Amino acid sequence: MNAGLYFHIPYCVKKCDYCDFYSVNRTDGQKIYFEAVRKEMEGYRGKRIAVDSVFFGGGTPSVADPMELAALLEQAREIFSFSSDTEITIELNPKTFHREKLLIYCNSGVNRISMGLQSANNDELSKLGRIHTKEEFLSSYELLREVGFSNINTDIIYGLPDSDLHSLERTLSFLRELDCEHISAYALTLNDNSPMYRRGYRFPDDDGVYEQYRLVCEMLSGYRHYEISNFVKQSESPCRHNLKYWQRAPYLGFGAAAHSFFEGCRWSNPEDIHCYVQGIQQEIQPEKEKVSQEDSFSETMMLSLRTDKGVKYADLPQGFYEKNRKLLEQFEASGYLTMGENGFRLTEAGFFVSNSILTALL
Ligand code: SF4
Repeated sequence: MNAGLYFHIPYCVKKCDYCDFYSVNRTDGQKIYFEAVRKEMEGYRGKRIAVDSVFFGGGTPSVADPMELAALLEQAREIFSFSSDTEITIELNPKTFHREKLLIYCNSGVNRISMGLQSANNDELSKLGRIHTKEEFLSSYELLREVGFSNINTDIIYGLPDSDLHSLERTLSFLRELDCEHISAYALTLNDNSPMYRRGYRFPDDDGVYEQYRLVCEMLSGYRHYEISNFVKQSESPCRHNLKYWQRAPYLGFGAAAHSFFEGCRWSNPEDIHCYVQGIQQEIQPEKEKVSQEDSFSETMMLSLRTDKGVKYADLPQGFYEKNRKLLEQFEASGYLTMGENGFRLTEAGFFVSNSILTALL
């Protein structure tokens, strides 16, 4: 199976108030960071691993020097065996790029863009601590189209502070007008240290969040809802790179906080730029963990049930179906799950309560 490559670019102009991804709000020191990432990649030279997806995530890859990203791609093409239709995605933030940067991405083979909108309501964007307004997002989006990008994902978040169905409807209507190929819609999740917690906002309760989720599904019904949080135009393909995570396909992650799953092992890099760079310079290998058969099964269930393809009976351990048949039938009767000849999958209502279903089944 072809592998995916992930590059973590841990720099942001400013930390958003809800963000839990590893990134720092400064942009200096990038030269030494990219040197380390290139050295990490060198470890695979000579293995000729087949690759058909690349993802630059972060952080905000578009705050990095675009020539550094182009150099990473050039080196990756030398070391790995790229298929001719390799999907190459870069995450961008509005206001962090201009035409020249986009042309460098285009010329180095980037063919998919992912850009965060999060909300089309400027008061919500300001509560989230985003650096852009709806209008600035729109002009960045129009520039992407002008330059020629024809595969664009837009992220939104629902369950926002002080939000209701009307504010979400405005965001979804705006999204539908954009007509982007792919949409990721996430429910807001905050950890205890999130600056948003301290501001005294009113958050929708569980029923309110569920109503918002239903509205997302309803207003994006022209799209294929192929994963809990992901929608793709019927005429387009799902994100090949992200599918690898849910299908337990191999992927190699480079850079601070990047995760890998390869040859049956999982490992991750330190969540700190300095520790990561030092580790690479001193040739310290991250600890690899072989995934046991039992964990493989749990992972298959957890990840496959996130998608509209669901789980195949053939991938379940012997006796699982017989043991859980009653439970599966109950979930089916409640409208959370559909059972077919070869396996079962969650419905849209089931996606929303997938954690409880998994807890019952595992
Ligand atoms: S731009 Fe993205 S990665 Fe950076 S702080 Fe905001 S949400 Fe997090």
